[in-house]
Amino acid sequence: MADMQLEDGESATFSSLGLNDWLIKQCQAVGIRRPTPVQYHTIPAILQGRDCMGCAKTGSGKTAAFALPILQTLCEDPYGIYCLVLTPTRELAIQIAEQFRVLGKPIGLKDAIIIGGMDTIKQAMELSAKPHVVIATPGRLADHLNSSNTFSLKKIKYLVLDEADRLLEPTFSEDLETIFDALPEKRQTLLFSATLTDTLEKLQEVCMNKPFFWQSKAEIATVEQLDQRYVLTPAQVKDAHLVHILQTILNEHPDHSILIFTNTCKNCQLLSVMLRELDFPCAALHSMIRQRERMAALVKFKSSVAKILIATDVASRGLDIPSVQVVINHNVPSSPKDYIHRVGRTARAGRGGMALTLMTQYDVKLIHAIEAHINTKLTEYEVKEKEVLEILNEVSVARRGADVTLEEQEFGERRLINKRKQLIRDGKDPDRELHRKKRRRKKKLSS
Ligand code: AMP
Repeated sequence: MADMQLEDGESATFSSLGLNDWLIKQCQAVGIRRPTPVQYHTIPAILQGRDCMGCAKTGSGKTAAFALPILQTLCEDPYGIYCLVLTPTRELAIQIAEQFRVLGKPIGLKDAIIIGGMDTIKQAMELSAKPHVVIATPGRLADHLNSSNTFSLKKIKYLVLDEADRLLEPTFSEDLETIFDALPEKRQTLLFSATLTDTLEKLQEVCMNKPFFWQSKAEIATVEQLDQRYVLTPAQVKDAHLVHILQTILNEHPDHSILIFTNTCKNCQLLSVMLRELDFPCAALHSMIRQRERMAALVKFKSSVAKILIATDVASRGLDIPSVQVVINHNVPSSPKDYIHRVGRTARAGRGGMALTLMTQYDVKLIHAIEAHINTKLTEYEVKEKEVLEILNEVSVARRGADVTLEEQEFGERRLINKRKQLIRDGKDPDRELHRKKRRRKKKLSS
């Protein structure tokens, strides 16, 4: 793995940050040789016992920045449950657990991944076996806290909120309240994200003891090696432009991996059916498919069996897929923050990458807002319109076919049925629960 560029602390080593030899050796074994800026700045503060807020570019080594000092102090005084890591998506939880497992192998680290879509009973057993580290998404952990008293979080030493700003959005507030009620007042709280600054005040409420705050010097939160482009396309022929771009990139670079982001689960599914129809090897990742399928899609993409992954924003935060050369925004994200997270899936760990945003006549304002936020002008990616026209008919036919397939699969209804089944499995009355959820949403909107 390539060493990442250091902003400062060029000569820093992990040993000069106070890490023990066993951890340094383990880092070396996985190709982590010198600390990145976020690690250089935050590891000593965490080892001193301070609360910490780290705001750094995506792909900058944030996970190891908290995992390494936690593992060091855990090794000195091992018990369970020692540390709780919360993160907004299931895939991120799995990824963080993988880093903990690799780095914590020499001390026989025990972890538990507590996420939706997986066996609740097995998770309850894992929790009561007192793992050292629990990595969880808020909803499922709150469910366990509400339904069981076989484990306790009252002794945790560390609480980590990864992608902290997202976790503090209203969607998670009820679950976070349940979780925070179960935590000890005395603890060390560590908050990390690529975009923390907007929600700083709110975050400071969570960090109780005057947190150490570190923010990457780079003004924009996207990496310098990223080539950021837009493609002008009338909305009606967006699909044909997308297909043309994919053909062009894969013809020139057959080994490239491409991640396409779109705004809804339905669009995600539609695009994947349409692209498969057109013989592109692709996988889809969104919240309307089972967790097993979500993981299989990621494995296929990571192993290059599928060169293209189409995803909603569930994949936009923190996911470390080392070799994504191109990110395509099929829709322009409505918040610049989401743009930063999406494009951060490429140009990771010092590698180059390209982000390409499809821009229709309706998106001009959104693009300007993004450019202002990242302080960079996107440049135009020229497409050969004649070639787009040549494939227009074929793409339209494939798209209509995809529409029909989804209708046959009763895509929207399947979601509702799955939700009701899950509620029944959890011993709840689906009608009452869905009604309560609706009421809560209404209340939130009116408050
Ligand atoms: P993260 O920002 O935590 O998603 O990390 C991005 C990638 O960088 C992961 O694959 C890490 O294994 C890798 N990484 C973390 N720290 C370093 C380092 N100091 N040097 C090289 N690679 C690193």
